[in-house]
Amino acid sequence: MAQLLQLKNVTYSYSDELASETVIKGINLEIEKGSFVAVLGHNGSGKSTLAKLLNGLIIPTSGDVIVNGMNTRNEVYDKEIKRTVGMVFQNPDNQIVATIVDEDVAFGLENLGIDYFEMHTRVDEALKTVKMSDYKYHAPHNLSGGQKQRIAIAGILAMKPECIVLDEPTSMLDPSGRQDVINTIISLCREHGVTVVLITHFMDEAVLADRIVVMNKGNVVLDGTPDDVFSKVNEIKNIGLEVPASKELICMLEDDGFILNSKSIDEDENVSLIVDFLGGKSNV
Ligand code: ADP
Repeated sequence: MAQLLQLKNVTYSYSDELASETVIKGINLEIEKGSFVAVLGHNGSGKSTLAKLLNGLIIPTSGDVIVNGMNTRNEVYDKEIKRTVGMVFQNPDNQIVATIVDEDVAFGLENLGIDYFEMHTRVDEALKTVKMSDYKYHAPHNLSGGQKQRIAIAGILAMKPECIVLDEPTSMLDPSGRQDVINTIISLCREHGVTVVLITHFMDEAVLADRIVVMNKGNVVLDGTPDDVFSKVNEIKNIGLEVPASKELICMLEDDGFILNSKSIDEDENVSLIVDFLGGKSNV
C-alpha cells in the first residue's frame, strides 16, 4: 500500500544552540494510507514533537518529512500539507473558536475559499460523521469535553484531510467522553478511510490500532502490531510504561512454555484465560 507519511532520518531540536538537546534523534518511519497507527510513550519521549513534524507545524533540524510526496521544508506545499494532515490537540477548549457549533466547524473552510453551499454540505457531513448533528446550533462552551473534542474533529474533517493526527485527544476527558471520541476515531479510519495517527499514553487505546510505534527519549524503540508490541513485556517495562498485570503473567507463563494464546491486553479476558488455564481452580 502507498505511504502517506515518510520520515527520513529526522532529528529535531527546539533551539539552534549547539548545547540544545535533540528531542527527536534520527527517526525513520513510514505510515501507510488508510492505516491506524498509535504512538505510545511516556511524558517527554517526543510524541508531541513528532506529531507537529507530521504536518509541517515544525520543520526537522535535519532529515525530511514527506507528506503525500511533498517535503514539509518546501513552503510552496505548506497549505496543501496542512490540508492533507489535520491536527487535533489535547485540550478541547483551546480548539473552539466560534460561539455556535456550525460556525466553529466551518472556521477552517473559510480560509480555503470554498463556496457557501459546499461549505454547508461539508459542515453537515462532518457533524454527521462525529454524531453531533443534533448540536449544530448549540453553543460549544455548553458541551461536554468529549462533545467539544468531536466538534474539533469535525472542524478538521470538513477540510477533507487524508490523515488526522490526534495528540492525546482523550487525556482530559471523562470515561464516557473518552469512549465516544475513540469510537469516532475508529470509524474515521475503518468507515471513512482516513489515515489516523493517535498519540496516546493509554494502552487500551493503542491496542485498537493496526500498528503501535513506541517512543523513548526521541527514538522509536518498538514498532509492530499490538500483539507484537505487547508481547515485549520487558522492553515496555524498561522504558517505564505499564503492562497490564494479567498480560505480564501470561507472557511469563508463555516464556516457560505454557501457551495461552492471548491476543488481547484486556484485563478481564486475560484473567479468564488464566483461570481456564489453571483448570477453573479459581472461584474467587
Ligand atoms: P511527549 O509528547 O512525549 O510528552 P514532547 O514532544 O512534548 O514529548 O517533548 C519532548 C522533549 O522536548 C521534552 O524534553 C520537552 O521538554 C521538550 N520540549 C517540548 N516542547 C518544547 C518547546 N516548545 N521548547 C523547548 N523544549 C520543548
